[in-house]
Order: sequence, then structure tokens, then C-alpha cells
Amino acid sequence: LSERLSGVFDRLTKQGALSDEDVKTALREVRVALLEADVSLPVAREFVKTVQEKATGQAVTKSVTPGQQVVKIVHDALIDVLKGEGEPGSLKIDSPPAPILMVGLQGGGKTTTTAKLAKRMKDRDGKRVLMASLDVNRPAAMEQLAILGTQIGVDTLPIVKGESPVQIAKRAKTQAGLGGYDVYMLDTAGRLSIDEELMSQVEAVRDVANPRETLLVVDGLTGQDAVHTAENFDARIGISGVVLTRMDGDGRGGAALSMRAVTGKPIKFVGLGEKMDALETFEPERIAGRILGMGDIVALVEKAQETIEAEQAEKMMKRMAKGQFNMNDLKMQLEQMIKMGGMQGMMGMMPGMGKMAKQVEDAGFDDKILKQQIALIQSMTKKERANPALLQASRKKRIAKGAGMEVSDLNKLMKMHRQMSDMMKKMGKMGKGGMLKQAMK
Ligand code: GDP
Ligand code: MG
Repeated sequence: LSERLSGVFDRLTKQGALSDEDVKTALREVRVALLEADVSLPVAREFVKTVQEKATGQAVTKSVTPGQQVVKIVHDALIDVLKGEGEPGSLKIDSPPAPILMVGLQGGGKTTTTAKLAKRMKDRDGKRVLMASLDVNRPAAMEQLAILGTQIGVDTLPIVKGESPVQIAKRAKTQAGLGGYDVYMLDTAGRLSIDEELMSQVEAVRDVANPRETLLVVDGLTGQDAVHTAENFDARIGISGVVLTRMDGDGRGGAALSMRAVTGKPIKFVGLGEKMDALETFEPERIAGRILGMGDIVALVEKAQETIEAEQAEKMMKRMAKGQFNMNDLKMQLEQMIKMGGMQGMMGMMPGMGKMAKQVEDAGFDDKILKQQIALIQSMTKKERANPALLQASRKKRIAKGAGMEVSDLNKLMKMHRQMSDMMKKMGKMGKGGMLKQAMK
């Protein structure tokens, strides 16, 4: 991807805002690259569309090229998709003995991952874990788990010939209760492909075990197949998370993106080898970097943005002190507020605004409202932003409609703008030692 993109991006050297054309050219390549990284077509398409909306019209940070900027936008959007809710790598293993059901196709890495996870819970969380193999079709599979258990110092349920998976699950539950285990893990049998027998067996086990976590273990190198497997298992069994194995291979990790976009389930861990400690918490940043292969550019743009933000803030302060405070300034202010932990947080920090922060809080302001206000400003033309006095009835209607809101919402925003600019003027007039000037030092 790096080569492909840098070719295109070198051509995008013009500074200023990202034009439609810049973004389109770059994103065409991004789309191809995503497909090459094994991201499914509909997911890649949807993803590119989102990025396009975000990127078009965005100002290009000084000292980076538009192409580099697009990479950063793509990178951030990747992370957004990859990030699941909740702490990555966390498992619901309170209320002992907590059952964890491991499901997936044969050869996906279930048995290995069962042992890796057991070791992790034992070493990190000091949990007492019991592992049980439910793979009655292949006696060697039961042996495999027992051997791994000995190797990592985790107990396995003694093997009893002739039991069904459901019987083994029940025995594991009883044993885990009696033996004072915190967690018991059920390593189910897999098939080469999804079939009814496999699914009904896993379903029966799920019903007796009532697992706290049902983890699907899939081979990350199988790309699209992994996603289909996940969809099927989730529809039939209901999974709580995914473990992607063989991420030590040269696959580009695109399966992770499709997996998240299609199933919406969190990817909790990645397998990075055959060894027992080759299991890591899933990190969206790492996978995003791997899909894009351009970590250095991302870091560069971040650095440049920080510098620019500081410069812009200073400029804005100067303009405000002169009583010039337009919609662009307000937009920047609102964006900053979101970053700094919402309006209350921000105002609480500004001198003399503690009271206003309280009012804002009482009025139920939150990030959602801030985002709506930003959308309203984005719906204005350049001229209107620079000169809010232009905003008359017909323009107001257009703007509100463009942002999917009511004129009354826009009126509120304008009122806020007026109040803020009045206040800025007052503060600016506080003589040489005025507050804003103080703050600028
Ligand atoms: P199961 O049939 O789903 O239980 O799969 P196994 O746990 O038996 O794993 C099948 C093979 O994949 C074994 O040889 C494992 O050592 C290997 N394997 C599992 N996880 C990983 C991984 O993350 N990376 C690599 N390179 N190999 C793995
Ligand atoms: Mg197995």
C-alpha cells in the first residue's frame, strides 16, 4: 500500500483544503489497497464513502501534503471501525466458576487459544482455570489439550471415554464448582466447514453451560471466510467476541476490519504464533497501521496538527481580543471543546465562565449538541461563516436543512455566537492587562 499510495500522494502536493478531486484520487487507491489487504468489497466501499465525507473540504495541515493528510484521516477512520465497545482483552469472568465457551472451525486455533487464554488468566489475573476438551470425535484433540495443560500448569478435566460433549460440559461445570475454580473453559470440536451437526452440538453445549463468554476463534489469514464463519456462528450460537489467530503471518489484517464492520462483535485477542505466550490484546492502532503500512506518515501529520492547533488558537485569541469572532472561530472553539471533555470542562477552565458552565450543564448540553452545532456551521458558505450578519431567513432555512436541523436550532447557535462575541469584546477591552491578553502569554 505504501508504494501505491505514495505514488498518488506525491502528485497531491498542492496546499490548502482537500479538494473533491484530491480525495477521490487518493481514495480510489485506498479502496484497492483495502481489497488487497483482504477487506471485503462492501466493507471497503462503505468505509471509503465515510472517509470521503470526512475528508472533503478539510483543511490541509501546513507542512504536510494533502495525500499525507488523507492517510491520517483513513487511519483514524480505520481505528474507529476496529474499536469495539469495552476494554479490549477484557473478559467477563467474575462470579466463579465462570464458563467460557470456545467455538470455531477445525484448525482455526481453538485448542491452542484455549490454553493460551487459560495461561493468561492464570498468570495475569491469578485465576484458577479448568480446561475441558469436548472434541469427542478426535481422541488426539483431547490429548492435545491435556498436554498443553501440563505444559502451562493448568488443570484439565480428566478424559472419560464414551461421553457426549454435553455430558462433558456438565461434568466440567460440576468439577469447576467442587474444585473451587474461577473459570472453566470448554474447547469444542470443530468441523472443516459449518454444518448442522456442528451447530446443533455447540448449541446444546451452550444451553447446559450458559457461558459468560462465547469466543469465536478464527484464522485471520482466511479473510472473507473468517467473516462468514463469524456471521454464521453469531446468528446461531451468539458470540461475545472474536479471537483472530495467525496474525503473525503475512496477512494484512483486513479480516479484522471486515469482521468488525460485518458482525459488530469486539475482537478481543489476536494470536501471534504457536507458543503459549503468543496471545495479545487486540490493538486497533496496530492493525490499522498494518492495514495501511504507513505509521510514520500518521505520526508526522499528528505532530504537524498539534503545532498548527497551537498557532490557530493563538491567532483566534488575537482576533477575539479585537472583537472579531466569526463562525469559523466558533466552530474551532466547539471542536476544541469536544476534545477537551465537553463544554462544562472547557468553560470551567476559562476565567469568569464558571457560572456559565453551570448553566450550560443545566441546559443539558453535551457532545451531541456540540456536534450538531458544528454541523450547522459546516452547512454555511465561506462568506456566511466569516460574516454571520449575512444570515437572513432564506439562508437560515437552507443551512438548517443542510444540517438536518430546524431554523430554531440555528437561531440558538447564532444567539450563542452573539453572546460569546459580546463577551469577547468586553474581555478584549479590559485594557492592556486584559484577560485574553494575559491568557495569550
Ligand atoms: P483447533 O482445531 O481449532 O483446535 O486448532 P488448533 O488449536 O489445534 O490449532 C491448529 C494449528 O494452528 C496448530 O498447529 C497451532 O499451533 C496453530 N496455531 C494456532 N494459533 C496460531 C497462531 O496464532 N499463529 C500460528 N502461527 N499458528 C497458530
Ligand atoms: Mg482443537
